Amino acid sequence: MPIIDFHTHYFPDKIARDAIISLEQKGAIKAFTDGTRSGLEKSMSAAGIDIAVNLPVATSPEQVDSINRWAVKNNSAPVFSIGSIHPLSKHPETIISFVGKNGLRGIKMHPEYQEFSPDDRSLDPIWEACIRYSIFIIFHAGADVAFKMPFRSNPAKFAELHRRFPELKMILAHFGSWTQWDEVEKDLIGLDIFLETSFTLGFMEDAKFAELIRRHGADKVLFGTDSPWRNQKKEVESIRNLPLEDFQKELIFHINAEKLLNS
Ligand SMILES: [Zn+2]
Repeated sequence: MPIIDFHTHYFPDKIARDAIISLEQKGAIKAFTDGTRSGLEKSMSAAGIDIAVNLPVATSPEQVDSINRWAVKNNSAPVFSIGSIHPLSKHPETIISFVGKNGLRGIKMHPEYQEFSPDDRSLDPIWEACIRYSIFIIFHAGADVAFKMPFRSNPAKFAELHRRFPELKMILAHFGSWTQWDEVEKDLIGLDIFLETSFTLGFMEDAKFAELIRRHGADKVLFGTDSPWRNQKKEVESIRNLPLEDFQKELIFHINAEKLLNS
């Protein structure tokens, strides 16, 4: 079956080395690629991954336009890219319409790196523009190895955002909020939002993970690795080994992602 990795990162060749070194230090983790596109493609081949989605994050409003131009230029198989926006961006509607008109299907936002909380009402224009242009939004969710408690997002805040904007196509990385599985179970399981699998395998027991996927609905779960921060080959094998039916693995590995990328 085809495999789509919905959560990967690479950097322009010129800055890849420095970016990897500084992120490794910040998170006290080790990268599994050299941070370049060709490094990612090599890792994909080794893992049997056909398509990957690159998720750039703007850490200042000034970076948004250049990141989005770069994303548009590099939005081609086997690594598609989505766009970026910053909570302090002045004209969200202009940015989201640029993203949509230039063939990017979504944007990524990161509460820790971008210092916002998903329940901040000043961000409503971003959500409204995403709905208007049918752009999905993928959030980093919950704890992040590079930051300390308290974290700016949690399952209850995302659930509240979903209640306020039910039409917003929302994807939560790290299965809804990294390591906050009890709250994920209480506040998110069953809602009409997508949960992405990176950094869940190995942090939650396989049987529990499979149970939550079944209860949430495998039609709302996306395979993602957060490469270079996880080993793609191992992640693929771990999902293959989960106690789930083949049709559920097909949904998770590619069918759900295909729908989002082609809509
Ligand atoms: Zn990531």
